[in-house]
Amino acid sequence: MTTQTVDLIVIGAGPSGAACARTAAKAGLAVALVDKQRFPRDKLCGGGLTGRAVRHYARIFDRALPDIPLTCRDRFRFFAFGEDLGGGEKAPPIHLIMRRDFDATLVADALSAGAGDFTGRTGRLDPAGPAVDLPGVRLTAPLIVAADGVNSPIARLLFGAAFDRERIGFALEVEQPGNAADVPLRIDFGAADWGYGWQFPKTGGTTVGVGGIMARNADMKAALRGYLESLGIADGLPVKGQFLPFGDFRKTPGAGRILLAGDAAGLVDPITGEGIGHALHSGELAGLAVVRALSSGQPDKALAHYRQSLRPLHTGLRQARVLRQLMFRERLRPAFISGFRRSRSLRREYLRLLAGETEYGEIMRAMALRMPGFAWRALRGG
Ligand SMILES: Cc1cc2nc3c(=O)[nH]c(=O)nc-3n(C[C@H](O)[C@H](O)[C@H](O)COP(=O)(O)OP(=O)(O)OC[C@H]3O[C@@H](n4cnc5c(N)ncnc54)[C@H](O)[C@@H]3O)c2cc1C
Repeated sequence: MTTQTVDLIVIGAGPSGAACARTAAKAGLAVALVDKQRFPRDKLCGGGLTGRAVRHYARIFDRALPDIPLTCRDRFRFFAFGEDLGGGEKAPPIHLIMRRDFDATLVADALSAGAGDFTGRTGRLDPAGPAVDLPGVRLTAPLIVAADGVNSPIARLLFGAAFDRERIGFALEVEQPGNAADVPLRIDFGAADWGYGWQFPKTGGTTVGVGGIMARNADMKAALRGYLESLGIADGLPVKGQFLPFGDFRKTPGAGRILLAGDAAGLVDPITGEGIGHALHSGELAGLAVVRALSSGQPDKALAHYRQSLRPLHTGLRQARVLRQLMFRERLRPAFISGFRRSRSLRREYLRLLAGETEYGEIMRAMALRMPGFAWRALRGG
C-alpha cells in the first residue's frame, strides 16, 4: 500500500463535500475527494433548489446555474392540513433538478479546481492519524471533513450514532413519469405528522413525497398513500425512503481534527426539509475554516473556526424549530393557518425566506406583529 499525504481529505462528494473540496482546492490546498460511489450516482431527494441554494452555488462554483436540465417555477401553492393557504405569484423562483445530474457537475467542478479524485472507493477512517485507508492507498492529512450524509459512518464512529432516533426525520418519495409542464409546484404542511408533503414538477416527471419526524409517524407509508390520493395520483409507483436530519444539528460539528458538514452535521431546515443550500454553505465554511487553520499553522483550531462561522446557520435552524412548534402544535395550528392565509405579506416573507433574502428571525418578528397572542402562547409552551 502506498501513502499519500494531502492538506485535507473530504469524505463524501455530495453538495457539502464537493463545495468543501472546491473551496479548499481553489485556495491552493492539496485536497483528496473521497466517495464510495462513482458519479453520476442517484440520491433520493426532491431536487428543489431554493434561491438560497442557488446563491451559495453561484458563489462557490463561479457560475449562476449548473449546466444541466432545470425546471424553473415562480408560482407555488401552499396548503396546510388540507386547507389552501393561497399561492405565491411571481415569487423568487425555485429551480428543480435531478440530483444525479446536479451532484455529478459539482464533483466535476471540485476536481477541475484541483481536488484529487478518490471517488468510487470505500475507505476506513483511522481517527488517530487522521488517515483514511482506501484499497491500495493510505491517505493522510492534518484535517478531515466528513460530508458523508445523514447516515454518516464518521459521525457514528465519533459519537456512537449518526443521529438521534427520537428527533430524526424520515421521508418517502415516488417519481411519477410523464410531462410535468402543467403540474403545479406545491408544498403541503401537515401531509405527514410534524412534516410536509411536496409535489415538484421536473423535466420528464414529477417528484412527490412526504417527510416528517419519524417518531411521530408510525406509518409513513400510509401518509404517502393519503397524500398521493389527495393529489389524484394512483398508488403503485416504486417508493424510496431515507432519513432526513430535520434541524437536529450537532452543536459541535465534529471532534478534534475531523469536521462534519451538510447532513452529517444535521443541517436540514426543520420546516421545509431543505438541505442542499445548507450543505453547500457548510461545506464551503468547513473548507474556509481548514484554509484558515492551516495557513496559521494551527490545524487544531479548525473546528473552533468552523463552529463559529456556522453560528448564523445554527441560529436560523433554532428559530425554525420554534416556528415549527407554532405550525404543528394542535392548539396553535388554527391560528397559524388563518394568520398565514390572511396575510399576503407573511406569505411573501416566507417566499423571501426560501429565496435566501431573509431569515427566520424576520419571519418570527412578522408573525409576532400579526398574531401577538398566538406567538405569546407558543413561547409559553402552547
Ligand atoms: C426524500 C428527500 C427529499 C429531499 N428533498 C430536498 C429538496 O427538495 N431540496 C433540498 O434542498 N433538500 C432536500 N433534501 C435534503 C438533501 O437531499 C440533503 O440535505 C443533501 O443531499 C445533503 O447533502 P450532503 O452533501 O450533506 O449529503 P449527501 O448528498 O447525502 O452526500 C453524501 C455522500 O457521502 C457518500 N458516502 C456515504 N458514506 C460514505 C463512506 N463511508 N465513504 C465515502 N463516501 C461515503 C455518499 O455516497 C454520498 O455521495 C431531501 C432529502 C430527502 C431524503
